[in-house]
Amino acid sequence: MHVLRNVLEHTQKNSVAIGHFNIADLVLLKAVFAAAQELKVPVLVGASEGEREFIGVRQIAALVRSLREEFDFPIFLNADHTHSLTKAVEAARAGFDAIVFDASALPFEQNVRKTKEAVEALKAINPAILVEGEIGEIGTGSEIHEKAPDLSKSLTTPEEAKQYVESTGIDILAPAVGNMHGMLRSMVQGETRKRLDIARIAQIKSAARVPLTLHGGSGTDDEDFRKAIAAGIDIVHINTELRVAWRRGLEDGLVKQPDEVVPYKVLPLAVESVKQVVRSRLRLFNGDR
Ligand SMILES: [Zn+2]
Repeated sequence: MHVLRNVLEHTQKNSVAIGHFNIADLVLLKAVFAAAQELKVPVLVGASEGEREFIGVRQIAALVRSLREEFDFPIFLNADHTHSLTKAVEAARAGFDAIVFDASALPFEQNVRKTKEAVEALKAINPAILVEGEIGEIGTGSEIHEKAPDLSKSLTTPEEAKQYVESTGIDILAPAVGNMHGMLRSMVQGETRKRLDIARIAQIKSAARVPLTLHGGSGTDDEDFRKAIAAGIDIVHINTELRVAWRRGLEDGLVKQPDEVVPYKVLPLAVESVKQVVRSRLRLFNGDR
């Protein structure tokens, strides 16, 4: 049986990370699964509240479970950025493997209280479920931004990371370490890259002593990714890069076949375009295999 907790033990021991890729349709899911299967590495599929609303909470759970069972493959499902307990409970009941309970917009004490309450409620539904909590600010929206928000003042400190983990009982921590949701246009064009605070990651890891997630990984410098994983990052989220590839592949499929109306003849170009991004990211996260 494939268990996400065991995969995270492996990533912590071996300085690798599990890739987390958001999906909102079957094109993205097929691309993520095909790339992971090709490289034979575990993979985490994510769906935010908006993505879940589009594809269906129980429907995405059934799709991912069917892949895991039919192919005996370590593919897991995460309820990304869940802002209410109601939506978190809905995902837990549907059989998600992990839930990001995101109360990071609240002041620290309230974030602790809400997250602790969520951990207790979710573990009561499924004791094996992994709950991730978030402190610090990493921006919102996995899309293309015109301007970079100033997040430098709200980076996570090792002290608050330790206190947060101990007082909430979360299994996984998402810190703010220079990462940011979405990409700047210059990053999409490959002119600039996100840089990470590697020393801070190492300090947070030794203070918090739980698996760490890097959100907003799209557009990050490759070498910073390697160093961040060596310093203690266990899960890396990639969404915007996939969305860009999805759009380009879809446009390509339509432009190349202007008279085609058969979805399964147009959409494979979108699958291939997304798959290339997932493959290259998974290689990097798993020690350049
Ligand atoms: Zn995120």
